[in-house]
Amino acid sequence: MDENLAIDRAELPALLDAVRASAMEVLAGIESRPVARAPKAVGAEEFPEQGVGLRQALARFEERWAPGFSGSAGPRYFGFVTGGATPASIAGDWLTAAFDQNAMSSEDSTASELEQLTVGWIGRLFGLSEHTGAFVSGATMSNFVGLAIGREWLGEQLGVSVAQDGVGALGPVRVLSGTPHSSIVKSVSMLGMGRTSVRPVPTLRGREAVDVDALAAALDVLDGRPAIVVANAGTVNTVDFDDLRAIAALRQRYPFWLHVDGAFGAFAALAPSHAELVDGLAEADSVCVDLHKWLNVPYDAAVQFTRRRDLQLRVFLNAAAYLTAPVGTPDFGHLVPENSRRLRALTAWFSLTAYGRTGHRDIVQRNISAARRLADQLTTGPLRLVAPVRLNVACFTLTDRPTLERIDAMVAAVADGGETFITPPVYAGVPALRAAFSNWRTTDSDVDRAAKAIIAAANEIP
Ligand SMILES: *Cc1c(COP(=O)(O)O)cnc(C)c1O
Repeated sequence: MDENLAIDRAELPALLDAVRASAMEVLAGIESRPVARAPKAVGAEEFPEQGVGLRQALARFEERWAPGFSGSAGPRYFGFVTGGATPASIAGDWLTAAFDQNAMSSEDSTASELEQLTVGWIGRLFGLSEHTGAFVSGATMSNFVGLAIGREWLGEQLGVSVAQDGVGALGPVRVLSGTPHSSIVKSVSMLGMGRTSVRPVPTLRGREAVDVDALAAALDVLDGRPAIVVANAGTVNTVDFDDLRAIAALRQRYPFWLHVDGAFGAFAALAPSHAELVDGLAEADSVCVDLHKWLNVPYDAAVQFTRRRDLQLRVFLNAAAYLTAPVGTPDFGHLVPENSRRLRALTAWFSLTAYGRTGHRDIVQRNISAARRLADQLTTGPLRLVAPVRLNVACFTLTDRPTLERIDAMVAAVADGGETFITPPVYAGVPALRAAFSNWRTTDSDVDRAAKAIIAAANEIP
């Protein structure tokens, strides 16, 4: 055995204590760490022909790399939709690595059973009792899998199997959506259906939610040809929600696969005050829910839900011919792109077991109030809201001359200040800024600090 490896094995308890202490220092300082910073290159390192052992590797990481890491797990990082990690989920992540299970098959451990159980719990949070699900790495992969099943369904409608005969057997494909996330277009590209098959459907006036009448008209034009509809719950910029029930009802008139991208918006289901935004979610044929955003588990984790596991199996079966389909509940390796796979369910199992539905509801509700609180403070002075706060995002812009240059300067000034971090969408043709709340640590005083920093930056833009 390599000498360093042998030493590390012998000294593992002390070494892991050192790592624990290092992690604890990061977490203890997470609220005072600069929230983001302009990355400065760390520089090359000599190729490690011979290693230095874990203790020195840790020292080198702490010295060279850790200082450049952002405080994105902390309470005032409001860029994109970025979740933190609950204490229990961090514990789950450590143990995932310690056990290093391969959650591909159920032959040698209870890991797959834990995943089945956890998928069931997550489905229950969102009212998806009739769907089956599987863990994937994020909402992009969840959308990818959902659309792959939808693609197979299109084949079924046309009397062909895409899994067997290829996407060419389908002819032209239509994927209709109001304001799809970029990952929908990426997934469609990966699935061989072509980015141009995604056809934007008009949205309601001044909204990102799809105009259901316009969607009906777009389906009508297809003259009975089956399509895929991607409903959004909610959109990233302004967290707008399509009317899921009305869209699902269109299936009585038109044949389409209904995929709902509820990456973070589905969490509205946890808050009684906002649950109606996702009314009808359970009618979807496939649903995407991200977990590393609003469930606050570490990267990376999401779940893909579907009503048609049979079609999912056809697409992802890890065998040469689909006629050899397994009997009973298929192993996860037959349901998702990966074969060997991390036991991603363990972080979610830990967090749900530790805090339950009520604990996670509390996170969602506090984040919703935080978005309102920020919006209230940003409506005076140099900034104005560009959309109402519907859930956990405040979307706003400069009152005076909201040009791309001035907005970019704002983003940079806010980031440089180290107090908070926000990202710039262009909404309805207007360069804007948005703050998204999805971290369990965020308090009212964090919101007030961020508001102060944002207003100060806005006042200083030339
Ligand atoms: C974040 C997000 C995605 C992509 O999620 P990843 O986890 O980054 O792959 C897809 N859809 C929506 C609505 C999102 O917010």
